[in-house]
Amino acid sequence: MKAFVDADACISCEMCVETCPTVFKMERDTAIAYVDPVPADAEDCCRQAADECPVEAIKVTA
Ligand code: SF4
Repeated sequence: MKAFVDADACISCEMCVETCPTVFKMERDTAIAYVDPVPADAEDCCRQAADECPVEAIKVTA
């Protein structure tokens, strides 16, 4: 699985960082996905973060 944050859409709420810190961190005022690929044991929280992002800025691919 790969994860990607649309920096233009992100509103810096930090929800994804709290939900899945293994995959997401804040860089300046934007969340980034800093692991590629997403570790197997972080796939569930990564999907949850993508589902819960208020602006749907997180994309995940198989
Ligand atoms: Fe940005 Fe969405 Fe993460 Fe909030 S949950 S910091 S809007 S990517």
